[in-house]
Amino acid sequence: MDFTLNPAHTELAKRVDEFVEEKIAPHRQENDHEATYRPGLIADLAAAGLFALRIPREHGGLGLDSVSSGIALERLAGGDLAVCFPVLNAGLIGGVLADNGTPGQKAAWLPPIARGDHLVALALTEPDHGTDAAGIRLTARPEGDGWVLDGEKTSIMIAAHATHALVFARTGGEGAGGISAFYTALDDEHVRRERLSDLGCRAGGRGRLIFDGLRVGPGDLVGAPGGGFRAVMRGFGVSRALIALMAIGVGNAALGEAYAHAKRRTAFGQPLGRHQAVTFPLVEHTTLLHAARLVSFEALCRADLGEDPRIPSNMAKWWAPKAAVEAVHQALLTLGHLGWSEDGPIAQRLRDVIGLQLADGTAAATKMTVARLLLGKEYAP
Ligand SMILES: Cc1cc2nc3c(=O)[nH]c(=O)nc-3n(C[C@H](O)[C@H](O)[C@H](O)COP(=O)(O)OP(=O)(O)OC[C@H]3O[C@@H](n4cnc5c(N)ncnc54)[C@H](O)[C@@H]3O)c2cc1C
Repeated sequence: MDFTLNPAHTELAKRVDEFVEEKIAPHRQENDHEATYRPGLIADLAAAGLFALRIPREHGGLGLDSVSSGIALERLAGGDLAVCFPVLNAGLIGGVLADNGTPGQKAAWLPPIARGDHLVALALTEPDHGTDAAGIRLTARPEGDGWVLDGEKTSIMIAAHATHALVFARTGGEGAGGISAFYTALDDEHVRRERLSDLGCRAGGRGRLIFDGLRVGPGDLVGAPGGGFRAVMRGFGVSRALIALMAIGVGNAALGEAYAHAKRRTAFGQPLGRHQAVTFPLVEHTTLLHAARLVSFEALCRADLGEDPRIPSNMAKWWAPKAAVEAVHQALLTLGHLGWSEDGPIAQRLRDVIGLQLADGTAAATKMTVARLLLGKEYAP
């Protein structure tokens, strides 16, 4: 067992750390106040190769492993969690397209995703179907050689910024087997967007996408008809571990701020850090995040070895965001009134990281997946 990063991973980590320090962290509060990404951010992410991490080399990407995405997203999240979503989506949707697309689709879509020209949203959740995603109702009605999409998606991260979306729609009967995936441009008179007003990750522009008679052709169908749901669920096997690492990035950034404060601030004649009642809770949260981090990277290593990552990735997805929320909360308390203030970084980190307890599946959804894998489908349908 080897817990060290290889030289390529170490180099990537260093590069992303420098990028975060220069281009991300200084703008975290500005992004939040303006509720959008600062001008030039997407171009900077693209220039740093962050949209290209998981795209195969033959399609203009870097062809890196899942561990590399974990390294990059954990660090980006420590700078500004909201910035992670377009990068996460490029990897998740790029992976679904690389695994399920035709050669023509891959050649047409993967290079612009890698370059950041296509900013992609994942459009699965609907007003009446979140955890119960296999029940979605947005319809794809056959017309001519294609389909017409009608219905509403909601809670779609980067809906305000995205140029394209992978949209899940019902082409067949009830359940997961009746759902197909379509890759489509969003700049169309038959698609309306509405922003949602959120507690955190405000720059991410989460929103509703309303499809009103959008025509999609056979060339927009990704994979086989009825294969869309299974394709995205396979993608979640990796992305849930990546989201766990994003949560851990936020948690450790806040704990780092709390440790620094504990050295600086004095109370009762000595630095806060000399009071064990201050340091022990911080150390407990650092321990839990460390453990959750190992489970998350185990999932990514297994995926890179071609093994099924779903048990550790779903374990990480329910545990790490919860551990991170609790760690950031403790960090806020350690900073006292300074932690509570929106002038400091921690209040925003707390608002932001709570969203990861929902995104890509709640704790209940991910525990259901683990139960199904451990017990068998008949016990945990
Ligand atoms: C920050 C953020 C980003 C997101 N990004 C996207 C995105 O890009 N694309 C997208 O499609 N969606 C996205 N979502 C939506 C997200 O996937 C859903 O919020 C999530 O799947 C839960 O669905 P729901 O909100 O409808 O809750 P519901 O499914 O209504 O669940 C409500 C509560 O009931 C619990 N529950 C539900 N069923 C069960 C059960 N069988 N047993 C026990 N408990 C249960 C849930 O755990 C939850 O606590 C995002 C959400 C957030 C907050």
